[in-house]
Amino acid sequence: MAKYIFITGGVVSSLGKGITAAAIGSLLTSRGLRIRIMKLDPYLNVDPGTMSPYQHGEVYVTDDGAETDLDLGHYERFTGAPTSKKSNVTAGRIYWDVLEKERRGDYLGGTVQMIPHISNEIKSRIRALDDKDVDIILCEIGGTVGDIEGSIFLEAIREIGLEEGRDNVAYIHLTYVPFIAAAGEVKTKPSQQSVAKLREIGIMADVLICRAEVPLSMEVRKKLSLFCNVPLSSVIEETDVKHSIYEVPLVLSDQGLDELLLVHFRIARPQADLTPWRKVINAIRNPKSSVTIGVVGKYQELQDAYKSIFEALDHGCIAHSAKLNLVKIASEDLERGDTSSIENVDGILVPGGFGGRGIEGKILAIQHAREKGIPFFGICMGLQCAVIEYARNVCCLQEANSTEIEQKAADPIVCLMEEQKDVTEMGATMRLGAWDCKLTPGTKVAKAYGKSEISERHRHRYEFNNAYRDVVTEHGLTIAGTTPDGGLVEIVEIAEHPWFVAVQFHPEFKSQPFNPHPLFAGFIGAAVNREKERSG
Ligand code: GLN
Repeated sequence: MAKYIFITGGVVSSLGKGITAAAIGSLLTSRGLRIRIMKLDPYLNVDPGTMSPYQHGEVYVTDDGAETDLDLGHYERFTGAPTSKKSNVTAGRIYWDVLEKERRGDYLGGTVQMIPHISNEIKSRIRALDDKDVDIILCEIGGTVGDIEGSIFLEAIREIGLEEGRDNVAYIHLTYVPFIAAAGEVKTKPSQQSVAKLREIGIMADVLICRAEVPLSMEVRKKLSLFCNVPLSSVIEETDVKHSIYEVPLVLSDQGLDELLLVHFRIARPQADLTPWRKVINAIRNPKSSVTIGVVGKYQELQDAYKSIFEALDHGCIAHSAKLNLVKIASEDLERGDTSSIENVDGILVPGGFGGRGIEGKILAIQHAREKGIPFFGICMGLQCAVIEYARNVCCLQEANSTEIEQKAADPIVCLMEEQKDVTEMGATMRLGAWDCKLTPGTKVAKAYGKSEISERHRHRYEFNNAYRDVVTEHGLTIAGTTPDGGLVEIVEIAEHPWFVAVQFHPEFKSQPFNPHPLFAGFIGAAVNREKERSG
């Protein structure tokens, strides 16, 4: 039977609860424990995948095709523990399922209530992660203690504490300890109130993790311990990290958090080997070179819309001990004729996207990369733009386009499956989750992966139109990967270019700091070479 760690947040949102949960997971993994990690989101949307990137940042996709909250990306990157449909559940989904059961008559006409019906449904979703090969389930509760939507989730995790026994459940509360500049003082009151709110529901925090701008003095720690009712050793400080979020596991481990949890659960395990984390931090703190990468997208004003892409670029840089200088380029600025931003970069990445806005700017950037020999990496919409650019400017098909952008395009080089000849199966639904891909021997991607079959995650509706395979290959584009039956194009590249690789899938979802994705490592490697040529 697995043990449970619940992570709640207090005072304000945006404290980095997901990163803290992921870091705790990574420490437990380093101690030889088998973990699973999940997030409960108290909002009423049923499906996180349909939420706007403007409000919620990137949609993270799992192997089994779930479209989830971006915190799951942190979980996989930090811990390597697989996430799935079970790992992200919204309140909307819970209510929906309970109401469906009610309509089916499953409750035999009894009164359906928040407690026990909704709380039981929440508990069953948490317990669904329990398995014989799982030691600890970490469960992050989205939102902040005190939110109306969140209270039933807190009730459910309180009940789990009662049912499993307090030795088998730990409650970690992530709080904010502000420094009030005018008073020159650190304030503990918001934390006291947030912990009191938890106690009102019946949850005693076992550990307090304090996000703070300045280190906490012993006096402040003692005050937090006394007023929040946690032992002094369980007051953990998490000040803003200097270089990278990957310092968080080390920050928490230095204060004995993993040991504390093991003692709480009465489990003995050897000390954690944190060498992989130290190596990552060392590469970040002591870079040997630096590269400038331009990411040409349309959600640039939004910090989190390309979260996994930015992380994977960081991982590629860790692989080469390079410092990443990220230039976020709004594709619409390129369309307005201002191309200065792509003149001095060592690599250009065009990420995924939906809809026509900003497409021509992306195509311009790709043409520039192709003609000037600048390393280029296209992802999903990035591949679709790359083949449109190639068709227009190399194959002289000026009207080439995607039917997503121009439904009646004269040369629909990118279109829905059913718009292609001879294809009857599969509707206009998303291709979602893991698909196998066969690599063409001798290509750059086959060399980078070092194998001939791979599996990567997808999230798109449109595909390369097979009717155009011959014309693009005759003009020098290489089909470097397809589905195992050869039916769908997954990767294109240009052999004569230092690094021109575009993929229909999302490799960024499977990159880790100590296990950088081979295509991101390859792209950054090519960019490092270009930087050396330029400066040397
Ligand atoms: N909009 C494109 C499609 O649906 C690309 C999607 C993406 O980049 N994730 O096929």
